[in-house]
Amino acid sequence: MAVRQIRIMGDDILTKKCKPVKEMTRRTMELIEDMFETMYEANGCGLAAPQVGVLKQIVTIDVDDGNQYVLINPEIIAQDGSQTGYEGCLSLPGKSGIVTRPNYVKVKALDENMEPFELEGEGLLARAICHEVAHLEGQMYVELVEGELVDAGAEPEEEIAE
Ligand SMILES: [Zn+2]
Repeated sequence: MAVRQIRIMGDDILTKKCKPVKEMTRRTMELIEDMFETMYEANGCGLAAPQVGVLKQIVTIDVDDGNQYVLINPEIIAQDGSQTGYEGCLSLPGKSGIVTRPNYVKVKALDENMEPFELEGEGLLARAICHEVAHLEGQMYVELVEGELVDAGAEPEEEIAE
């Protein structure tokens, strides 16, 4: 396993659409392991393959709910409600901004054995799924930010309208 370099906003690769994974290979397994290591090292709760320079539809998520999620070729198939709050991205370190997301999503994906499964998420997990799946489409959360980006850790609390 190895920590990979995280691409920073402004890097072209973050604007490109990712290709679906067709089969699991040793190389892709290594990529997934490296994505977890890179995400934990950066104290992130989600990472998408293009953030480490690979245009494949792979997402890793760990929102501290006791699970490590790997979503391959994910597709959001249901969503409900809304949540408004600060969101950040490992590709834009030190910043955060207010984004409204669904409060519930259901996603269909393949796991690391290429077996289909569905995952339902609420709150932070729903937010992380939406954020990471958007990366696979070449979209950054900054396109959705309401108001100004602020320094992470200095978010004015009164502006959070949950
Ligand atoms: Zn991100």
